[in-house]
Amino acid sequence: MNDFTSECFVCEKKLDPAKTSKNLVLNLPVCEACKGTDEEKEMVSRQTDELADGFVCGCV
Ligand SMILES: [Zn+2]
Repeated sequence: MNDFTSECFVCEKKLDPAKTSKNLVLNLPVCEACKGTDEEKEMVSRQTDELADGFVCGCV
């Protein structure tokens, strides 16, 4: 699980945790290249949608 926390959640590039920014919505690491991009926002909305679906439905 430590590997997961040191990868950019947008591009999945390995990151140095000490230099990594976090996306405050998902609390996941994001690299400088992806931070603030449309790709980042896309991934955030996709992940939050999945969470919301789980709460709304619960039938899976
Ligand atoms: Zn990235």
